[in-house]
Amino acid sequence: MNLSGKKVAVLGCGRSGRAAALLALRDGAADVRIFDCSDRPERYDEAVPTVFAATEADGRAFAADLVVISPGIEADVPWTLSFAEQAEELIGEMEFSYRHYEGTIIGITGTNGKTTTTSLVEKILLHSGRKAVACGNYGTPLSEVLLRDEVPDHLALEVSSFQMETIRDFRPTVGIWLNFAPDHMDRYRKVEDYFQAKLRMFENMTEDQVAVVRVGENLPGIRPRVVEFSSQSDAGQMCYRDGWIMEGGTPVIDLRGTAMEQAHNAENVMSATLACRAVGIPLEDIVETLRSFLPPAHRCETVANIDGILWLNDSKSTNLHSTEAAIRSQTRPVVLIAGGKDKGLDYSPVRDLLRQKVRACVVFGQIAGQLRDTFKDVVPTETEETVAGAVAAAARMAGQGDVVLFSPGTSSFDQFTGYVQRGEAFREAVKHTLNV
Ligand code: ADP
Repeated sequence: MNLSGKKVAVLGCGRSGRAAALLALRDGAADVRIFDCSDRPERYDEAVPTVFAATEADGRAFAADLVVISPGIEADVPWTLSFAEQAEELIGEMEFSYRHYEGTIIGITGTNGKTTTTSLVEKILLHSGRKAVACGNYGTPLSEVLLRDEVPDHLALEVSSFQMETIRDFRPTVGIWLNFAPDHMDRYRKVEDYFQAKLRMFENMTEDQVAVVRVGENLPGIRPRVVEFSSQSDAGQMCYRDGWIMEGGTPVIDLRGTAMEQAHNAENVMSATLACRAVGIPLEDIVETLRSFLPPAHRCETVANIDGILWLNDSKSTNLHSTEAAIRSQTRPVVLIAGGKDKGLDYSPVRDLLRQKVRACVVFGQIAGQLRDTFKDVVPTETEETVAGAVAAAARMAGQGDVVLFSPGTSSFDQFTGYVQRGEAFREAVKHTLNV
């Protein structure tokens, strides 16, 4: 991108913002500055001048030609808009970096399963001999990948709704839509706004491209050819039965004994398979990759299997839909541990499933009271303040043959810095309680 003579304001001094600013400098921009409204950043890059505690007056005074915003920053609030008053464009970091990339992009979105699927797509591409990297919402921003000496010609690109709010030309080669359920109601006013933001991933795709979509998802007006998958019905190009992924009535991938055997992970495998095939990867490469593939930690990860009780850490479950998927995937009676920060979600839709599959519940954290009131008449429910207390209670309630499923169903920020710290607290508490 040629930015010579331009003034570029990058909003947000996190990893995405810093990399985008360096990219803008490489594009020859005359003046690149990062603005952040916080005055106590943990890290920042001295290679780019950064204005901390930036105000709307700073925004107006800088008079940027181009504004690039980080995904954590909202586009339509006065602070952000003050930077764009004179600007030709206000775009997000993903749109900005996309304009620098000419390779193949497998874009992956959905409420749950993005990270697992992105990692799997990356591993399949690498196994097949392509130069590939998992990036985007996955951890490494695309801008950072583009600053490397050698830029891979394939991307497994995890895409969040926040990133899609500020695209214009962005267009993946193949798009995966895993699923959709209400989430992030602390950022969006309506569920519909969250849905529409995600749906924008397909906005610039054309009829000759492929969208890989779960059966039953209703995606109005998208242009690419839709190829469907399901673990819940036989409809679609691929489905899941008795541990096998089936295509046209024929078993094609055996997931028995792999780490992807649970139904929700089988959906991730089907979507990755259909997308990789659409860019020319042979099925054998996918089958071989799956033999050793492990989903990232904190996603239904086995922590202990002692005295006939299986303990699973699903701390990455930060919404009701992932907790539902985790419960549905269990073949044993479940003792569920759920709780955390209140982020405005309604938990009553899960009551029927609890009645069918859950023997007992332990609720904890800020949202404990709401969960107890929602669950207590369908399943015995105990309340605890902390994860350690919840683990001790679950140990008392669980019996031989049960699974204790730590699938919080909401975010962790009432007590932890994130799901990783919460998952580690769970692991420690299990070790301590079981003396292992
Ligand atoms: P994301 O990046 O979208 O948050 P992850 O792969 O990190 O997705 O998984 C998040 C949570 O969702 C975990 O609790 C995991 O067990 C669950 N999960 C993974 N894949 C799926 C799926 N396809 N459907 C529903 N839940 C899923």
